[in-house]
Amino acid sequence: MARKKYGHSLRRFTREMLGQWPLIVLGWLLNLTASAAAGVLPWLAGLFIDRLAAPNPGLDRFIQSLGFADAGAVDWLLPLGMAISLALNALLVFGGTLSIQVAGQRITYNLRRRFYDHLLSLDVGFHSTIGSSDPLARLVHDVNTLSNSVYAVKDFVTAVASTLVLVGLILARHWQLALATLIILPPVVVILNLLGRLVRRHTHTVREAESSLLARLRQSLESMRVVRAFGAEGHELDAFSRRVEDVRRKTQRREFTAAITTPIIQAIGVSGVIAVIAYGINLVVSGDISTGMLVEYVGLVALVLKPLRTLGQANTNLQKIGSSVDRLYEILDREPAITDPPEPAAPPLSRGEVVYDGVGFAYADRPILTDISFRAEPGEVVALVGPSGAGKSTLVKLLPRLYDPDVGRVILDGVDVRRWPLGELRSRLAMVPQQPLVFSVSVAENLRYGAPEATDDDLWAALEAVGLDDRIRRLRNGLCGEVGRDGETLSGGELQRLAIARALLCDPLVLILDEATSSLDSESELAVQRALGRLMAGRTTLVIAHRLSTVRGADRILVLDGGRIVERGSHVELMAEDGLYRGLVERQEGLTDR
Ligand code: ATP
Repeated sequence: MARKKYGHSLRRFTREMLGQWPLIVLGWLLNLTASAAAGVLPWLAGLFIDRLAAPNPGLDRFIQSLGFADAGAVDWLLPLGMAISLALNALLVFGGTLSIQVAGQRITYNLRRRFYDHLLSLDVGFHSTIGSSDPLARLVHDVNTLSNSVYAVKDFVTAVASTLVLVGLILARHWQLALATLIILPPVVVILNLLGRLVRRHTHTVREAESSLLARLRQSLESMRVVRAFGAEGHELDAFSRRVEDVRRKTQRREFTAAITTPIIQAIGVSGVIAVIAYGINLVVSGDISTGMLVEYVGLVALVLKPLRTLGQANTNLQKIGSSVDRLYEILDREPAITDPPEPAAPPLSRGEVVYDGVGFAYADRPILTDISFRAEPGEVVALVGPSGAGKSTLVKLLPRLYDPDVGRVILDGVDVRRWPLGELRSRLAMVPQQPLVFSVSVAENLRYGAPEATDDDLWAALEAVGLDDRIRRLRNGLCGEVGRDGETLSGGELQRLAIARALLCDPLVLILDEATSSLDSESELAVQRALGRLMAGRTTLVIAHRLSTVRGADRILVLDGGRIVERGSHVELMAEDGLYRGLVERQEGLTDR
C-alpha cells in the first residue's frame, strides 16, 4: 500500500477535528473559566485571613454597598464566596471535560463508521489479500488511540500558546537577554521533530506486530479442534509467545524513545536558564540591568520549562495518533476495484440468460481462466466439473462481479455485468457455497439476510420447502433461536438446508451453486438434494458439481482443466468420448461401488 507523505494524514485528521470545533472550543472555554474560578479561591482566602489580622474598611464599605446593613456579614459572605467558586470550578471542569470527551467520541465514531463502510465497499480480492485480522486491529487499536486525540491536541495547542506568550514577555523585558534564551528554541524544534518521527515509525511497527499477533490468535482459536487433534498446543503457544514478545520488544523501543523526549527537552531548557544566569550576571556586573530584573527574568525563563515539557509529551502522543491515522487512511484511501458503473444500463427484462464470451482472468499475474465461452439458456442447469484447482470457483465468481474478467465479457440477459447497477445485479443472483455461511444470529435473521421484508409466513414456507420446518419448531425459541447457541446446534445437512432456504427467499433469477464435497449420511444427503431440487426449479443454475446425480441431470456439462473448457456436452455425449470427463466419472463410480 502506498505510504502517504509524512504529515498528510495528520492534516486530514485536523480537518476532521475541525468538524467538532464548537464542542472543542466550548470545552476549552469552560476549562479556562474553571481555572479563573479556582484562581478566585486563594484571593478570597487571603482577604478572609488578612481581615482576621487587621480590619479592612474598603471591604466593609463594599459589603455595605451590596445592601448589607452590618459589615460583619462578610464573615459568612467570604466563606460562601469560596464555597461558590469551588462549586463553580467543579461544575465547569465537569462541563469542560465532558465537551472535550464528547468531541473525541464523535470523531472516533465518525471514523469507525466510515472505515467500516469503506471496508464493506472494498472488493473481495482486497479482503482475501489482507485477511480479517489486520482491518480488525486497525478498527479497534488505531481508532482507540484516536479517542485521546482531542486531549493531545488541546495540550499541544495550550503548550505552544503558553510558550509563545512567555517568550513574548521575555522579549519585551530585555531583547538581548531574550536572544540568549531563544537559542534553545531551534534545538528544541529539531529534537521534537526527530524523536517525533521515530516514535511515529516505531508506533507503525508496534501496530503491525499487534496485527500479526491478532491474526495468529484468531487462526488458532478458530482451528482449536485441529490444534487438539494434532496435539499442537505447545507449538501454538510457542508461535503465540514469539509474537507477544515481538509486540513487547517493539512497544518497549517506542516507549523508550517517547520517554527520552521529555528529559532531553528539559535539559535543553535548563541549559537556557543557565545561559541566562551566566549572561545576566555579566549584565548586572556591568550595570546594564538591576539584580531584581535578573531574578524576574530567570523566573520567567524557568516558567517556560513547564509548557516545554508538556510540548514534548503532547508531541509524542500526537505522533502515535499520526501513525494510527496513517494506518486508517492506508485503507480509506484505497479505491474499491469493483464499483457501480458510472452510466449503468437500465436492467433488462429478467430471463436468466448467462453468457461467458471469451473470458480470461488472472489473480495478480497468474492466469487462471483462458478463453471461456458458453451460454446458459434461461432455466438451464450448467454443471462445471474438473480437477481441483481447474478454476471452477473462479469462473462462477465473475458473474456476481466478485472479480471482473481481464479479457472478454460476462453477460446477464444481454447486458455486460459491468454495466448492471451492482445492487440490482447481485439481487438477481444467489450463491450457495460449499460451506453454508450461517451467522450466529437467530434462524429468522439468517433467513432474512437477503430478503429483509419476508414475513414469518414466508420464512415458514421456505423452511417447509427444504423440509426443515419441523426441526426449527422443535428448537426452544423457534425462529428466534440463535443458531449454534444454547444447544441449538444444527447438523451439517440442516445448516446446508437453512442456507438453501435463505436462497429460496431471495427468489433469484440465477443460482450459483457450489456443491458440498464432504459426504453427509444418506438420509441427510437425500433431504439436501430434495431442497436443492426445489431451489433449482425454473432457475438458471451454474453448479460446481461433485455429485453424479447432479451432473447427469444437467442440461450441459463443461469440463474445465487448467483454466480452459476442454470438453462440453451432455452426460451421454461426454461418456461416449474417451476424455477427462469419462475418467472422472469412472473414478467416482469406482469409489462409490467400493
Ligand atoms: P476446487 O475444486 O479445489 O475448489 P477450483 O477448480 O474451484 O478448485 P479455483 O478455486 O477457481 O479452483 O482456483 C483456481 C486457482 O486459483 C487455484 O490454483 C487457486 O490456488 C488459485 N486461487 C484461488 N483463489 C485465489 C485468490 N484469491 N488469489 C490467488 N489465487 C487464487
